[in-house]
Amino acid sequence: MKLGCIADDFTGATDLANNLVRAGMRSVQTIGVPDGPPPAGAEAVVVALKSRTIPAAEAVAQSLAALRWLREHGAQQIYFKVCSTFDSTDRGNIGPVTEALMDALGCDFTIACPAFPANGRTVYKGYLFTGEVLLSEGSMREHPLTPMTDPSLVRVMQRQCRRRVGLIEHAVVRRGSEAIAARMAALRAEGIGIAIVDALDDADLHAMGHAFAALPLLTAGSGVAIGLPANFGLAPSAAAAELPPSSGARAIVSGSCSAASNAQVAAFLNRHPGRGFAVDPLLLAAGEDLAAAALAWAGTRLGEEPLLVYATAQPEAVKAVQAALGVEAAGALVERTLARVAEGLVGRGALRLVVAGGETSGACVQALGVKQLRIGTQIDPGVPWCQAFTGEGKPLHLALKSGNFGGADFFDKAFEVLP
Ligand code: ADP
Repeated sequence: MKLGCIADDFTGATDLANNLVRAGMRSVQTIGVPDGPPPAGAEAVVVALKSRTIPAAEAVAQSLAALRWLREHGAQQIYFKVCSTFDSTDRGNIGPVTEALMDALGCDFTIACPAFPANGRTVYKGYLFTGEVLLSEGSMREHPLTPMTDPSLVRVMQRQCRRRVGLIEHAVVRRGSEAIAARMAALRAEGIGIAIVDALDDADLHAMGHAFAALPLLTAGSGVAIGLPANFGLAPSAAAAELPPSSGARAIVSGSCSAASNAQVAAFLNRHPGRGFAVDPLLLAAGEDLAAAALAWAGTRLGEEPLLVYATAQPEAVKAVQAALGVEAAGALVERTLARVAEGLVGRGALRLVVAGGETSGACVQALGVKQLRIGTQIDPGVPWCQAFTGEGKPLHLALKSGNFGGADFFDKAFEVLP
């Protein structure tokens, strides 16, 4: 293992692993801290935690457990992956986890940079922009758990840290790796422990990657990862994304109600008439066992041509269901049902499975007993095929699509790009 990564949520971990693979580093994502060793040949391991919004002390304990495992298995550099919108509160968890990792690594200087210009996240003079606006003027202002109302990352991070927080501004970054390294040395000499770093484009991220080669720890979004594999002598190559050949029936389970998923479900039903089974939450609440019904329906239909089981619905329909059942109860009921469907489909031979929806993916991965995912070919930005290791030795290929990712033809495209 070259790079050891700790991600504070599940889809963020996939996003990071996907960027590493595209830069030439063979990567595996684990669900939580593994019991055993990583699979042979993994150059990066991303340990996916769910630590973004739990109490800081718990996030620290889980992150330190991940760190111990990564170091035991040879990680040469540690990457703490946070959200590109720097999701946190004054209590944490980005600051406390970063400092705990620094303490454990005996490291007196690190950087923090959530920039991901390809996704519209840029940092200038320490201020984070989402698209055209400051972080605090975009939708993150209203986030239910981590409302981001201060766009200054230096201030945000300083409120969470004991160490002094500084800035490496764009005027330095654009002069390249040597200038960045010189500024890091100067800040360190001044007693700065953590530096926010400006970045406006991928060239900035590549310059940083080179400058950060010797840092024991990096705290960053997934963007900074694009410049790191080169430090280990790796270059982009198709081999990094290679998975064993897939086989088995093709199926899709969709519990996402995003605009993109609605369009994808509609496009699929249009192209494959009679190959969709709708799960109605109101029938579920009335006691109908729609998981069993969906699996019975799928029975004779499973095969080469994909089939789709979906709860995906338009916003008005979702609101009506939520009004009747409650937001959380409706979500949990649908997630449980779709997870049983996914488990049943895989058990019946659907070894090429696409799941749409972040929470839905979490529920399905749990039901399937997936412990590790090897990251393969990208289908659309941010969504790769993965090979899942369930501990039962089944060669299962999984694509987990969160929310608004993917074009309208995503489901068909997914099966077309899978070798
Ligand atoms: P996304 O990634 O688009 O946010 P998620 O799976 O994370 O998708 O979240 C969608 C949530 O909506 C899940 O909890 C799911 O169970 C729930 N859901 C899916 N279909 C419906 C529906 N028809 N009515 C109400 N809730 C639904």
